[in-house]
Amino acid sequence: MDKPRLQAAILIISDTAFQDPSTDKAGDILSDVIAIDGNDQWDFTKRDILPDDVLAIQHAITQYCDGEDFVNLLITTGGTGFAVKDNTPEAVTPLLHRHAPGLVHGMLQASLEVTPFALMSRPVAGVRSKTLIVTLPGSPKGAKENLQAILRLMPHACQQAAGGDSRKLHTGGVKKLEEDAGVSGNKRQKHHHDDHVHSHDHTHNHGGHVVPKAHTRPEDRPISNDPRAGPTSRYRNSPYAMLPVEDAVGLILANSPAPETINMPVNGSLVGYVLAEDVKANDPVPAYRASIVDGYAVIVSENGPSTKGMFPVASISHAAPGEIPTLQRGQIARITTGAPLPPGANSVVMVEDTVLRSMTDDSQEEKVVEILTDQVKADENIREIGSDIKAGEVVLRKGEEITAVGGELGLLASVGKAEVMVYRKPVIGVLSTGDEIVMHDRPGPLQLGEVRDCNRPTLMAAIKGWGFQVVDYGIAKDKPGSLEEHLRNALRDVDVIVTSGGVSMGELDLLKPTVERSLGGKIHFGRVNMKPGKPTTFATVPLKTNDGNPATKLVFSLPGNPASALVTSHLFVLPSLQYSSGKQELHGLPRVKAQLEEDVRCDPKRPEYHRVSLTPGPNGLLHATSTGGQRSSKVTSLRQANGLLCLPAKEWTAPKGEVVDALLMGGL
Ligand code: AMP
Ligand code: MG
Repeated sequence: MDKPRLQAAILIISDTAFQDPSTDKAGDILSDVIAIDGNDQWDFTKRDILPDDVLAIQHAITQYCDGEDFVNLLITTGGTGFAVKDNTPEAVTPLLHRHAPGLVHGMLQASLEVTPFALMSRPVAGVRSKTLIVTLPGSPKGAKENLQAILRLMPHACQQAAGGDSRKLHTGGVKKLEEDAGVSGNKRQKHHHDDHVHSHDHTHNHGGHVVPKAHTRPEDRPISNDPRAGPTSRYRNSPYAMLPVEDAVGLILANSPAPETINMPVNGSLVGYVLAEDVKANDPVPAYRASIVDGYAVIVSENGPSTKGMFPVASISHAAPGEIPTLQRGQIARITTGAPLPPGANSVVMVEDTVLRSMTDDSQEEKVVEILTDQVKADENIREIGSDIKAGEVVLRKGEEITAVGGELGLLASVGKAEVMVYRKPVIGVLSTGDEIVMHDRPGPLQLGEVRDCNRPTLMAAIKGWGFQVVDYGIAKDKPGSLEEHLRNALRDVDVIVTSGGVSMGELDLLKPTVERSLGGKIHFGRVNMKPGKPTTFATVPLKTNDGNPATKLVFSLPGNPASALVTSHLFVLPSLQYSSGKQELHGLPRVKAQLEEDVRCDPKRPEYHRVSLTPGPNGLLHATSTGGQRSSKVTSLRQANGLLCLPAKEWTAPKGEVVDALLMGGL
């Protein structure tokens, strides 16, 4: 059997090495171990140096494990000790789909044979998707010993983790596995050979019984709480990696359905749609030779008599459809701006260059007009056929939006388009969740513990304001059945569901489990590094439509606190809707610069989106006035908020007058 090539990567985790890469020794030593002891099976794809920062580590891990070009083995070195800044195991553990305590045991045992201080390391190991992750200590010597202890076994584990056929891999039993790996079993292991092979998979069938085989991959199985297990069994730390906002938006865009095309009539309802085709002019504009001034149509001949002199006014051409008599030599015709040139005429003299000399007997009309100039040339003051738009010219391109400013609709109308192909806009359902939530217009006072539903009206208004059709799905109770029923109802009819509430860490926070366990959805992220909005969750649910076609519906589960719900809807739901409705460039809110009207404190830990009123100042710069207290439950922080300051995570008070980035949520 040919040895398969496997991909390995190393993450060096150390604040010191991150600041000065020359201080890193472990990277080279571990590369050498893989090159020398690796049985010639490994290709090195990458090596990164990271600070002792949970988010940076988690970000790198998802990059190495979650894409199509995942690595088979991801080794970290550093951050496994007891120092305050050592947090590699804390970063890695929540991301593991399956733990591998055997590897941890093997590494510790190998080091323990060298020094009792081996127990000062806190390694973890396990599988994320198809990648095996092991955390080695930061000391080059310890890291080398640990890696040497397990490296020979890694190809086998990695092949299995990547989906290799377990049966084939085990053909020949443990003896063959040991030979392939270049390791030998000791007495104790020998004694347990049969058991050992069994626990991997059944290489030999006893009496031909059918080996049970799972139909799902472990990484596709739910990681949310099992609601039946009750509050005592729920996670006490979120099992979801905390993603930076940009990564979360990236995942949303990658999982939002590609735009579909439809035909729409050209009228006011087309505003907000994006063209799915290049639009060509049916007719030229103007469609006839038209005067661009009020004056007199004349006949200018190259060598003929001058236009200067007295002329009878033979006819009148107004900007109106109809027959116009042919102009004869020696006559002129009064003409208005935009009116068609009479047949025979080839130029227009401005009214300013003429004098009225006589009127008809009833004094109602001009009879004779004197033209004061002999400078008039042929084709003067005429807009030629197609001089604005030629027939067949592309007037709007695929990807351009029909805006509420009106220009595009006018253009479509002027070239004779009655129907165009555009991208369909998704339809969005909005659902509130929570036993305590009641309709805002329910008569009577609130009972103890009741909260009026403000998220649904708010989110529906925002979505409508973005130009999408929105459907109201009411309020679901914090009961698995109620939530599932509401979600199923909505999934049948709409493309995207936006819920609020039920995504925190309480035992009644049922959204994630319901989406994952009852609806077979996939949660792409369940935590975002931001304030407000940390528990924001995004999932996709595969479905069959009524006509039997497969479809993917999106579920955005926003946190229940009103400020969190509104901010996260703008940051996460909007870009997805923009993408699915064919918008090509801007996905998200426009970013502008704004000057602070007062000091604004940042959060030291999480990037914050601080609600502000943005108004244009006299010098054209936008001025930002805070809406006040920013607690995520504070509904008044949304009043007159048309912008979000993008504040960095740092111990800092941005002073009055500072110019900072802001996202524009509403009009100015
Ligand atoms: P949850 O995420 O369900 O734990 O909700 C967090 C907080 O937001 C709780 O105080 C809820 O009462 C509140 N909340 C949830 N949904 C709404 C809503 N639709 N309107 C107003 N407040 C809500
Ligand atoms: Mg709740």
